[in-house]
Amino acid sequence: MFDILKNQQLMDKEIEELLIPAEKVAHVQLNNPLEHALLVLVKSGYTAIPVLDTKDKLHGLISKSIILDSLLGLEFIEVDKLQNKIVADVMETDVPTIQQDATFARALTLSINHPFMCVVDENGLFVSILTRRSILALVSKYLHM
Ligand code: AMP
Repeated sequence: MFDILKNQQLMDKEIEELLIPAEKVAHVQLNNPLEHALLVLVKSGYTAIPVLDTKDKLHGLISKSIILDSLLGLEFIEVDKLQNKIVADVMETDVPTIQQDATFARALTLSINHPFMCVVDENGLFVSILTRRSILALVSKYLHM
């Protein structure tokens, strides 16, 4: 069964055809209030989305759980922080990224720990995302060929 993973044709395959382009990716800006980010996350149904600056450079990820965590005081949920704090204050900055010419094998390895990865160009500009779902779908296609 796992001969699939020794399939050089698959492992060397470029990830380009699996990518979701930036214009179809929900994102927020560094200086958006947490309230805006939470609205985008809840309305889109995504767990986490990229954080960009005005020039489309990738700076981090923001998620529902990061936002909820940032609202927790010692005894209360401090809802006013939704308006008083911005995305840059709380976002995750340790973000898994890959380049557009990465191999499928590299993406597969990264997807073990990350439901999606951001694809950036050589200047750190955000280009697209690659989801674990699309990686597994391709593996499944090869398995059933
Ligand atoms: P999925 O494989 O569609 O369940 O997506 C996994 C995760 O990737 C989602 O929870 C989001 O964090 C992210 N994601 C997928 N598609 C998008 C998109 N169009 N815009 C923003 N984030 C996305």
